[in-house]
Amino acid sequence: MRGTVLITGGAGFIGSHLCERFLKEGFKVIALDSLLTGSLDNIAHLFEVEGFRFIRYDVTNFIYIKEEIDIVLHFACPASPQDYLKHPIHTMKVDSLGTLNTLGLAKAKGSRYLLASTSEVYGDPEVHPQPEDYWGKVNPIGPRSVYDEAKRFAEAMAMAYYREHGIDVRIARIFNTYGPRMRLDDGRVIPNFICQALRGEPLTVYGDGSQTRSFCYIDDLIEGIYRLATYEGLMGEVFNLGNPDEYTVKELAQLIINLTGSNSGIVYRPLPQDDPKRRRPDITKAMETLGWKPVIPLKEGLLKTIEYFRERLKGEALHSNSRL
Ligand code: UDP
Repeated sequence: MRGTVLITGGAGFIGSHLCERFLKEGFKVIALDSLLTGSLDNIAHLFEVEGFRFIRYDVTNFIYIKEEIDIVLHFACPASPQDYLKHPIHTMKVDSLGTLNTLGLAKAKGSRYLLASTSEVYGDPEVHPQPEDYWGKVNPIGPRSVYDEAKRFAEAMAMAYYREHGIDVRIARIFNTYGPRMRLDDGRVIPNFICQALRGEPLTVYGDGSQTRSFCYIDDLIEGIYRLATYEGLMGEVFNLGNPDEYTVKELAQLIINLTGSNSGIVYRPLPQDDPKRRRPDITKAMETLGWKPVIPLKEGLLKTIEYFRERLKGEALHSNSRL
């Protein structure tokens, strides 16, 4: 074994892919998850794998782990706007108390620490694309602040542990990521559009659909996180991780209609408050330092994701028929 990693949010979308990757690389993995938005379905196949352990746990409470831990990866947090708007206080607790507890654990164990932060720390950005040294434009009392400000606090807390205690802290600012294991009802744009297209329902475009996002396929993101977690000499550094290929939401809707072969149309719904108008990562730093850039084009990643959702929807239909 190459060491032990502790992954909070290990049963979530990104967390479960991370567990898989670290196991494949020969690490022992301890996954913590409260299952608030994560699911055992995401990690059921890992229970048989040697070196994997799951603990159902809410990281807003003090964390006690007996064994040595080489890397703590703090990925627990509701991450879709729909989820964090539904659990605003818990979201803030996971990013404040949860970050404090996981940093305390890293300090006690002498572990390296990787914080999952977000492009939301840039808010509705005035600088485009967003480099790491842009400070952002965040509404501190808007509905999204429970996530944006909590992650900004988490970053500040991680940097304080680095400065005061010399903890080997690294921060990943993760931009929109998609792929298998996102929940059908996650509420984010890609699961929504794919499910709507596959069900033959109209795709719900918020606003006029001219807002942009840049979508990264999960395998590309995991590669970036793995490098950031395992490379030497990155203490106190922050990296944007995402795919700079930018699309309007309307273009995305049309692409998903085409790729699914659906007859669905588009309906327009009100734009949520403080919805960022443009988002695109500047990944120069990750390219130069980690030698990383995404390689999976949107179309290819969407086709894999559509396949996953098609299977999930079939499973759902069977389940609901068997209950009739
Ligand atoms: N969006 C949309 N229809 C949906 C869900 C989302 O038009 O059914 C838009 C949303 O307003 C935002 C973009 O798609 O402009 C991305 O939203 P998402 O919830 O995926 O994440 P965000 O990037 O806002 O965190």
